[in-house]
Formats: sequence, C-alpha cells, structure tokens
Amino acid sequence: MPSPILPLDTLPPVAALIGGRWVETPQKLAVEAPAYGAALSHIARCQSAEVDAAVCAAHQALVGEWFDWTARRRGEWLAAFAVAVEADQGRLAALECADTGKPMNQARSDIAACARYFRFYAGGADKLHGETIPFEHDFTVMTLREPYGVCAQIIPWNYPAQIFGRCVAAALATGNTVVLKPAEQACLSVLRLAELAVEQGLPPGVLNVVPGLGSEAGAALAAHPDIDHLSFTGSPETGTRVAQVAAEQHVPTTMELGGKSPQLLFDDADLDVALPAVVRGIIQNAGQTCSAGSRLLVQEEIAERVLRELTTRFEALCCDVGEADADCGPLISAAQKSRLEERLAEAQDSGVRVLARGYMAEGASTRGHFVVPQLLTEIPDGHPVLREELFGPVLAVQRFSDEAEALCLANDTDFGLCAGVWTQNGGRQLRLARGICSGQVFINNYGAAGGVELPFGGVGRSGHGREKGFEGLRSYTRLKTVALHHG
Ligand code: ADP
Repeated sequence: MPSPILPLDTLPPVAALIGGRWVETPQKLAVEAPAYGAALSHIARCQSAEVDAAVCAAHQALVGEWFDWTARRRGEWLAAFAVAVEADQGRLAALECADTGKPMNQARSDIAACARYFRFYAGGADKLHGETIPFEHDFTVMTLREPYGVCAQIIPWNYPAQIFGRCVAAALATGNTVVLKPAEQACLSVLRLAELAVEQGLPPGVLNVVPGLGSEAGAALAAHPDIDHLSFTGSPETGTRVAQVAAEQHVPTTMELGGKSPQLLFDDADLDVALPAVVRGIIQNAGQTCSAGSRLLVQEEIAERVLRELTTRFEALCCDVGEADADCGPLISAAQKSRLEERLAEAQDSGVRVLARGYMAEGASTRGHFVVPQLLTEIPDGHPVLREELFGPVLAVQRFSDEAEALCLANDTDFGLCAGVWTQNGGRQLRLARGICSGQVFINNYGAAGGVELPFGGVGRSGHGREKGFEGLRSYTRLKTVALHHG
C-alpha cells in the first residue's frame, strides 16, 4: 500500500524476521501515522506459530556459528552495527518520526542513542567477567558469567529504536540470542534495524523479530516454555500479567513499567536552569516517556514566581506534526488521546485547575491525535492526577513548605523510577538522593541527556531489574560458581 507520508522504498519488510529470513504472515496489521490519523503502512501479524518458529530458531542459533563467536568478535560486530545505524540515520529517523509522531529532531537523537547503545555494549562485550573467590587452600573457586540463552524482549511504542538498542545490544554482547516482540502501534524503525542486522552479517536466528498484537504474539512469547529470560517495557498492568506468566515457568524477568516521577524545586534553585528542564522533562515525546517528570513539587516561597514563569513557558509550547519540529508531537493513538482527555475532564470536574495550555500550530493536521501541554494546579491531596501515569504532556504541581514535606510528597507514590532535585544546598542534595525511593535521582539536572551509561530501572510499581550501563550487561547474564578441588 503506498504511504501518503513516507516514500514506499523507505518502508521495511511487512514480515517477521525468523531464523535470518523474512517470513510473511497470513494476516497483517495496519499501522497509522499518529500526526495525521492516516494509514502509514502494514506490519506482520504473528501468532503463536511464528513465535514458536522464532524461539526455535533462537535456540538453534545458540549452538551454531554464534556459539563460536568470541566476546571480542561480538563486540566488533556491535561496533560495526553502530556505524551502520549511524549511516542509515536519515531513513531510520524518518520512519521513527512518521510512526510515533515525535518531532524529527527527537527521532534523530533516538537513532543516535540506539547507535550509542551498540557502541557502549560493543566495548563492554569482552570486559564482563567473573571472579575468583578465596576459599580453602585446596580449592580454586571462580564465578563464570554466562548468557541466559534465548532472551524474549517485549518492547513498547514510545521509543522503539532506543529500546531496541538498550535491550538487543546488551543481550547480544553477552552471547544470548533474542526474540523481540515490538509494539503494534509503532515498530517500523525496529524492523529496519533488524534488516540492517541481517545485512551486517549477524548469524541467522541470533535476532528474531515477531511483530503483532500484544494479546497474540506478545502473550505467546511471554508464555513460551523455551525462553530463558524475559525483559518487558510497558504499562504496569500488562507488565504484571507478563511477570505472572513468566513466574509460572521460573523465567527471570526485567520489568520496566513506567513512573510518576517528581521534580523537587527548592527556593535556592537556579530557576533559569531548572524551569526549562522541568518543561522538557514533561513534554519530551508528548509526555509519553516512562521517566517523564510528571509531578512538580515547588517550595511555597517561590511558588507564585515559578507558576508565573511556567505559565509563560507552557503558553509558548506549540504542537505540530513531527516534520515541523515543534515542541510537541501527537499522542500515539486516538485511544490514548481519549483516555487522557477523559482523565483531564474528570480532574477539572473535581476542582483541579488548568493554569496554562500550549497551542496547536496553525494549519496543523486536525486528524492527528494531539493534546496540548497543560499545567495543573490546585490539586486535592491524593488525586488520581498525582498518582496515575497519564502518559501525556501534563504537569501536576504541588506545593511544600520544607524538606521533610517535600520528601514525603515525593515518596507518596506507588511508582519509583526517577526524581529531580533542584537545590544548591549540598547536605539537602545528599539527604534527598538517599531518601527518595526511585531507581534514579538527578540533582540540578533531569535525565542526564539520556544516559546510555547509567543504570536505569524502578522500584515498586515501576518494576525491577536494571537496564542501561554496565549493570544492563550483567542483567543479561547468570552467574555460575565453579569450585575446583585440586588437593
Ligand atoms: P500500552 O498500554 O502503553 O500500549 P502495553 O504495556 O500494553 O502498553 O504494551 C507494551 C508491549 O507489551 C507491547 O509490545 C504490547 O504489544 C505488549 N503486550 C500487550 N499485552 C500483552 C500481553 N498480554 N502479553 C505480552 N505482551 C503484551
């Protein structure tokens, strides 16, 4: 089907990658361009038969040519792949921009981040090792870090290329094979990346990609008896279900399930630096980011000034299609848009005030799934907009009087993925870094520019296990202890 938005020759295969071959499925799924609310392309609709074949191919690959690749060779391949991704950045970014609706400059930096994951883990492949353990004199004891085997990876639609990079690069660097189920809403960049991996000579079956619905391909993969590890990135509801299924078979999991991350703004903060970061932290990817800073906790003394300045900033935020490189793109789907609009209407009915809104670019697509950025104040304690992940460009503001209250509000959540702390006071920086319950705490910055090198993951409802950084590499290996009695 010709795409109104992308040239046909840009689109990846409408098929699944299984055992190094592109396999068509009897049924296809339509893919929409969220900025236009219009057809973009199709993807394969894998069912349990394709998932089965992919897991089988991944198993066979474990004992094939891949087994003979040394850690150094795997690293060399990953580094070469990073170069190939960079060389294809224009096409990959065009796919990511059209498929997710995100601004083109964000899409380009997502592709650059994907390449960085491969380069980072290329360097790590031959540097991860076990240890020797002092024991009895007549023993030598060592630990070996071994790949799990077949890694199932279920990933979401918000950052397809980046999350492909962080999961696939770490799993391959450590010698695993992969069966990846991308999200049905957006996965064209993932399919193109898989195509590049084949072109770059990855042995057949080492990377398999099974597009399809969560309830079909996703459920079949999570429940497959022959997977050895499962990593899931997505909503807490689906993650809970997937983790239960994996637990039935004692398959170890890494779960990255979103957040309701607070930014704490104290009266000694440098507002010229903090406020742009607070805004970026919620509008990036139209707020559809698990690590979005969706709660702002502001100290009473500066609250009026902060709200005034944020109002100006929010009212200047423009929404448009990705190619226009505006501040904000659309939400991923009509369903996501109506869900968010319902939550916002309920919030207003219960007294929450929308203090400021962004705007739509003149002449912007009216069929796109846009929701303009919004700044919410006067929120009753415990209100759902403070507790639920809205997954949209909506910042909820609360006030606090002192550090103790700020900490209490920051931790008043079931989630715990990230937090930002803005203060010049060194003691307070450290107390809050230790006191806040989350996987990452940023002090006088938010997000550390993506931080490929920095371990990432949650506590509580945000999930468990760590991806990114060297820790991400470790989490794709299991430890074996070898005790040698030599007398
Ligand atoms: P969202 O609600 O934001 O779309 P999900 O958590 O449902 O996020 O989706 C994240 C990933 O999980 C996607 O690849 C999706 O297809 C997949 N998925 C959805 N439902 C299931 C399921 N029951 N089992 C396995 N994977 C699923």
